[in-house]
Amino acid sequence: MKCAAIILAGGTGRRMGNNVPKQYMELQGKPVLYYSLKTFSGAEFINEVVIVAAGDYLDKVQADIVDLYGFHKTSAVVEGGRERYHSVANGLEALPEDTEYVFIHDGARPFVTSYTIERCLHYAKKYRASAAAVKAKDTIKIADDDSVVRSTPDRGHVWMVQTPQTFEYRLIRDAYRRLLDDEERLRAAGVNVTDDTMVAKMYADVDARLVESTYDNIKITTPEDMKLAKMISAENALKIQ
Ligand code: C5P
Repeated sequence: MKCAAIILAGGTGRRMGNNVPKQYMELQGKPVLYYSLKTFSGAEFINEVVIVAAGDYLDKVQADIVDLYGFHKTSAVVEGGRERYHSVANGLEALPEDTEYVFIHDGARPFVTSYTIERCLHYAKKYRASAAAVKAKDTIKIADDDSVVRSTPDRGHVWMVQTPQTFEYRLIRDAYRRLLDDEERLRAAGVNVTDDTMVAKMYADVDARLVESTYDNIKITTPEDMKLAKMISAENALKIQ
């Protein structure tokens, strides 16, 4: 079986209010991006890893992360695009045709566990598409443009979706090709493409299976997330000692 991972680090981190994008900030002396690369590269069922980075960071990622830490499964560091979905599409096109399964993971989520990725692959094989997720602890409200509550979904069925999202390779690659062909129509209709299972549903009509993950698998987006990430990484470092 040929299995690949795309690690996304193409964002510019506008919401962090920092010059350094979040995926390059340090936790326990190593860049955020290092941690997910270590987990994916360390999985024996993963043959190759593609990293997607912003144009200005391609050389830095290669030298200061891939070469420095010896992530030898990395087959390419490719340039990202304007939106996350452009970056995913570039990553998918960088993989060989005979890839069977692909993990798409946010480089800004350093704490994904080996167990989560194993289970994501298991369910991707069964359902063709899977995504790590946790059940919502708060009650979720759907509100209108004036912040007036319109509905309250049953909490038992509300999940917060994370990454990795895992797919049959050709299914998701072809779905992304169709998405790019359809981009103008989506923009005009005001549709925001925020995750990959959405693309699998819209352009391949495949329903993803959610895989219960951990609440630690946070996405570092704002400075508050970075505070929490420092606590989680300090605790993880203690466990390893
Ligand atoms: O912006 P957001 O927090 O949703 O980003 C999720 C992940 O996607 C991050 O790891 C970020 O680096 C990546 N991304 C990307 N290309 C973009 C935007 C985001 O690779 N244009």
